[in-house]
Amino acid sequence: MRNKRSLELRRIGLFGGTFNPIHIGHLRIAGEIKEHFSLDGILFIPTGIPPHKEDSGVIDPVHRLHMVELAIAPCKDFTVSSIEVERKGISYSIDTIKTLQKEMGHTVELYFIVGSDAFLEIRTWKDVDELLTLCNFIVIPRPGHRFIDLKGIDIPSLNRISAVDLDKLDRGEISRLPATLTERYCLFLERITPCDISSTELRRLIKEKKEVKNLLPESVLLYIMKQGLYR
Ligand code: ATP
Repeated sequence: MRNKRSLELRRIGLFGGTFNPIHIGHLRIAGEIKEHFSLDGILFIPTGIPPHKEDSGVIDPVHRLHMVELAIAPCKDFTVSSIEVERKGISYSIDTIKTLQKEMGHTVELYFIVGSDAFLEIRTWKDVDELLTLCNFIVIPRPGHRFIDLKGIDIPSLNRISAVDLDKLDRGEISRLPATLTERYCLFLERITPCDISSTELRRLIKEKKEVKNLLPESVLLYIMKQGLYR
């Protein structure tokens, strides 16, 4: 007889990124989203060759993967997948989600987490209309970006949200706006505590030998120093 636990739906957040390198902002996002949506865990997925960042100093995926492993080591509900690092060619989210769904089976419900800056470009992603039928999506604000700017994206479910509501979300009068994607899945626009850190800024600070110790886990900083990365 199967036990009760095996029949329960597990809810997992997928957090893809270049993680070049992973920073405190990424970890805070994962922690807050896990709590807001009562997720069972967060799976970090470092990209192999990212489709949108080919020429911007992206270091070897093996280093980026290892830095994610170091960063999440203290967090028991965070795990990392090497699926995109091991795949040959450019990493597309749709391929990753389909593969993970096959591997994990029907007892897992996926929530794909994406920053509003990345989501603004979603129409350029591979097979976006199909992608948006495959799982839930959570869009989080990037400091300097407003949810109202998503209004121009050609996604019918998003366009059904009124500009008034988007404005309320931007001003913090509400903290979440759901939009139906399919009978089963939703797109959530979700407010989180703003954290103005980017990997680009971190790489610049490291190159200029400036102080970065509060911006990333100590284990990651030690690894960067030992390997001489971003110099
Ligand atoms: P880079 O500066 O190199 O572009 P990044 O800091 O944006 O890197 P990524 O690894 O590309 O880091 O980010 C992974 C995901 O996390 C993306 O969806 C991105 O929008 C989101 N993200 C990263 N940093 C933040 C932040 N400080 N606030 C909100 N979202 C963020």
